[in-house]
Amino acid sequence: GAGFVAYSEAVSNNTPTVADLTETQIKKKRVVVLGTGWAGTSFLKNLNDPSYDVQVISPRNYFAFTPLLPSVTSGTVEPRSIAEPIRNIIRKKKVEIHYSEAECIKIDAQNKKVYCLSNDKTNLKGREEFAVDFDYLVIAVGARPNTFNIPGVEENTLFLKEVEDAQKIRKTVIECFEKADLPNLDDEARKKLLHFVVVGGGPTGVEFAAQLHDFLAEDLSKLYPTIKDFVKITLLEGTDHILNMFDKRITAFAEDKFKRDGINLRTGSMVVNVSDKDISIKDIKSGSISSEPYGMIVWSTGIGTRPVMIDLMKQIGQGNRRVLATDEWLRVEGSDTIYALGDCATINQRKVMEDIADIFKKADKDNSGTLTVKEFQEVLKDICERYPQLELYLKNKQMHSLVDLLKASKGDIKESVEVDIEEFKSALSQVDMLMKNLPATAQVASQQGVYLANCFNRMEECQKNPEGPLRIRGEGRHRFHPFRYRHLGQFAPLGGEQTAAQLPGDWVSIGHSTQWLWYSVYASKQVSWRTRALVVSDWLRRFIFGRDSSS
Ligand code: FAD
Ligand code: MG
Ligand code: MG
Ligand code: MG
Ligand code: MG
Repeated sequence: GAGFVAYSEAVSNNTPTVADLTETQIKKKRVVVLGTGWAGTSFLKNLNDPSYDVQVISPRNYFAFTPLLPSVTSGTVEPRSIAEPIRNIIRKKKVEIHYSEAECIKIDAQNKKVYCLSNDKTNLKGREEFAVDFDYLVIAVGARPNTFNIPGVEENTLFLKEVEDAQKIRKTVIECFEKADLPNLDDEARKKLLHFVVVGGGPTGVEFAAQLHDFLAEDLSKLYPTIKDFVKITLLEGTDHILNMFDKRITAFAEDKFKRDGINLRTGSMVVNVSDKDISIKDIKSGSISSEPYGMIVWSTGIGTRPVMIDLMKQIGQGNRRVLATDEWLRVEGSDTIYALGDCATINQRKVMEDIADIFKKADKDNSGTLTVKEFQEVLKDICERYPQLELYLKNKQMHSLVDLLKASKGDIKESVEVDIEEFKSALSQVDMLMKNLPATAQVASQQGVYLANCFNRMEECQKNPEGPLRIRGEGRHRFHPFRYRHLGQFAPLGGEQTAAQLPGDWVSIGHSTQWLWYSVYASKQVSWRTRALVVSDWLRRFIFGRDSSS
């Protein structure tokens, strides 16, 4: 920064004055954090080094516990119970953190500046524009709902992404019931109003459909006895099955349960158009298009990139990508001061085959053009850390070392046998097939936040004593270990107090006991004791009194 320049000039002209020195020493590095969701909040909660000056910018002045959003749509959990004010979170920190309620509208990577627009909730003064300089930028702006540019989706469907969305869905469901219960309607009109469509058979769409079913079956059907038989829930999914990312047993159980519950599950169905009255659906196998009237549509088909990110990607030469890429250290590729984590970015994991020549060269210490097993074993640990797919591959094949791997590709070899680059290539040729992108989940985002905060906490220390693996291309070591994701398992709540869970090692459990596991995990994952108490008391209230139906 400018302080440093001043200092070096002072050195070249004369000895530095005390004033110069203290100014360089006390100049805090300015860290700007965009977003107060899972990734941003987890970063802030874990940042402990008081030598940073942190500026948080987010249009939302609270953290939202998204896994309970579907419960908010039915009123099982109150909106306030899953929101923690960001000022509560930063107030407890020793690090200097300021929050501004604004949206970042442009990131200037070259000049290290972000441009922001304040929120305009009251509409009194209009929006303020301001710019903030950064030394480091941490982007955690998440993603937006993906409409695939299907006509009418933006205007006529509801998303389930934010707390306001969940509130709006709940209100709309109840309004549909109230309207359908008016005296002057015919049966067709009642059917239309009480046709609830969910688009997307991923975890969110499925959980929402299950919540909606319970809300209708357990609460609303008692309150609206004369119209309850007109209710229909349709779940649309483009592929052949719902919950594709889960174990087949979970998918089968869920599809079965939905059928028994009377949920109209239509797989192989693509939405092609939505008008204010009808939703048009194409059957993929037959190609035929049918239209159905609806009361409410909830759109939950995955996520897309925010405009501010698309603009940044163009600036830094990633314009041809769909999602911003970072390296395994969460640094945005093409920048050493910008980091990105959570749903707004993906880690561009290096392929072993891309770097194979460099790996070989690094391992071949004596430059003989061949590799002894001993030579390779010496760099194996670093390579496994840099390319986690190699470790996974060895584990999957139940191989304990590279010797096994070379044996498998070359036949029986002894420790002394050497391999050349071609043999080395063929031994490792299958390794990259195990690579896959990390899912866009709270679990990934929060682990990345913890990781990055730890890197920031140890920035200075690691400058002196790097601890990451050997650089394959280029000399020296990396400053930090690369990010490693630890998958703790995933839940799929299916309604009727039944949940499916897929835990590490493909351990599957389904049923009522898993629902209790779900309750305890989600109670324990709350960011504060305050929200924990609120959520648990909401659950108790629902058990005792049922769900509230006032809109
Ligand atoms: P977000 O949490 O979305 O946070 C983004 C933040 O950036 C927000 O504060 C937003 O206001 C802010 N922001 C947006 N634009 C700007 C801008 N231009 N400038 C500044 N700030 C901006 N994951 C799980 O692991 N388990 C679950 O059970 C689960 N259930 C889910 C249920 C639902 C209904 C949904 C929608 C998601 C669920 N997820 C779940 C996924 C999880 O919520 C996301 O993966 C996670 O929120 C990603 O965290 P993030 O910080 O990247 O983004
Ligand atoms: Mg975030
Ligand atoms: Mg969030
Ligand atoms: Mg990501
Ligand atoms: Mg050699």
